[in-house]
Amino acid sequence: MAAPDTSAGSLTVSGVTNPVAATFDLLGDRLTLTILRHAFVHRARRFNQWMERTGAPPAMLTARLNALVDAGVLVRAPQPGAAERHEYRLTALGLATWEILVCVWAWQREWTAEGAVLPELVHVECGHRGPPMLMCRGCGRTVTTHDTAVELSEDALWHITSGRRRSSRGSAATSDDAQFEEIMQAIGDRWSASVTGLALAGVRRFGEFRDALRMSPTTLTERLSRLCDAGIMARPEDAAEYRLTPRGRGLFGVFAFLLAWAELAHPEVSETGLRIRHLGCGEVLAPALRCRGCEARLGRTDVRFEPMPSLDSLR
Ligand SMILES: [Zn+2]
Ligand SMILES: [Zn+2]
Repeated sequence: MAAPDTSAGSLTVSGVTNPVAATFDLLGDRLTLTILRHAFVHRARRFNQWMERTGAPPAMLTARLNALVDAGVLVRAPQPGAAERHEYRLTALGLATWEILVCVWAWQREWTAEGAVLPELVHVECGHRGPPMLMCRGCGRTVTTHDTAVELSEDALWHITSGRRRSSRGSAATSDDAQFEEIMQAIGDRWSASVTGLALAGVRRFGEFRDALRMSPTTLTERLSRLCDAGIMARPEDAAEYRLTPRGRGLFGVFAFLLAWAELAHPEVSETGLRIRHLGCGEVLAPALRCRGCEARLGRTDVRFEPMPSLDSLR
């Protein structure tokens, strides 16, 4: 039944899969995030359910589902009662994308125009409503950008950005996945994601970005100005530096969970090239979500999303 997978470019560089690049390629995609959102929020499992909810062209939807199966995020299984048909279920690795989606939601809620109409996250046990905090699983303390350091290995970062990029992402700008439009400016391709990740690591000068990414000055200029236009980075008039705006810094949680997921998805690779260290305990950050109200650690089944009354995005 399945059409051939045409979505993903090669995820290997020099024969070695770079986990971070593969993760940006897989999850830095509007339709893919939309598919996962429906799988979590509406328990979508069947092709038709995603068709109805996303309005995506069938070939594009098939390609994304196949890519998620290939990546081990979804698994095909016979439909109950209709063994000749199959459905797609989230694997353990798929379920582990939940925190990424929550952080994307939290960022959209705080930093985009449609944030006010997005569903509200509620901690069932204590009733607290609103975005969670980040915590370090190693020491149990709450983590902010101020007590972490992003470390990068220059060689590995070069591999992140030197691979073949996905040739076509399609323009799946249906009303449903349009809400991921703004975050895609930061994570929608591995170049933008790498520039944003370097900025989170404290890189500010044009030459530092260029040296770390081995990018042509023209391409780098284009990416930086795009990130400035998107309000993720800014270049003060008289400064030779690019800095993350508060809006850009707000992406920290998204990156923390993307990097953690990249390691989870590629246990065979010991060095991902980009990692976050919690300075409070000195360990590489294994992030988790924590309720701002009662400070309990939040798992997928501890919370629910409550739709805003006038919203039709949760049909
Ligand atoms: Zn810690
Ligand atoms: Zn709570």
